Amino acid sequence: MTIFEEVKELVDVPTAARHYGVEVHRSNMANCPFHHDRTPSMKLYDDHYYCFGCQAHGDVIRLVQELFGLAPIEAVKQLSNDFSLGLDVDKPPDMTAVNRRRQEIVKQKAEQANIERMYDILLRYYTLLDKYKIRFAPKAPDDEIDGRYVYAVHHIEYAWYLLETFNRTDVVQQQEIKTEVDRIEREYKRILDEWGE
Ligand SMILES: [Zn+2]
Repeated sequence: MTIFEEVKELVDVPTAARHYGVEVHRSNMANCPFHHDRTPSMKLYDDHYYCFGCQAHGDVIRLVQELFGLAPIEAVKQLSNDFSLGLDVDKPPDMTAVNRRRQEIVKQKAEQANIERMYDILLRYYTLLDKYKIRFAPKAPDDEIDGRYVYAVHHIEYAWYLLETFNRTDVVQQQEIKTEVDRIEREYKRILDEWGE
């Protein structure tokens, strides 16, 4: 493996982009740092990026080159320094550093999966309430009020608030509301058991 391949394996594009101050939103859409970007137009994949606004694209090395005006090898060195990868042009890789970084990646992926799961629960809960609110709304003034409608009306704003908060905040804050998401998950299961979809 060359040092170029090595660095690409050890630092994915979204991780590097975040590290260098690029604002990354859900689904790895980012505000493009290479043109005046009001809406996130740049899609970040693990191994490359592509801007739908200005067509900027490349791998993680290219990203760092463009951000800091560096030659490819300088970009590799910068990444190696900033992520403590212990990679050097003339020496074999420092396997302790490389393995430490590999473990970090595994941990990050697990955290990411957990975040996705939490978001999914909030979204399902909100969607269910939205369904209840529409489907079981009273049709006439003297209709008996359906319990599902009452529940939905009482909880839907908070559900929306949680979903929005979760969307806007960073990983640390998302972890902080984990207890609340756990409670929502139990609540979601409870109403689903009682009332169905
Ligand atoms: Zn762009």
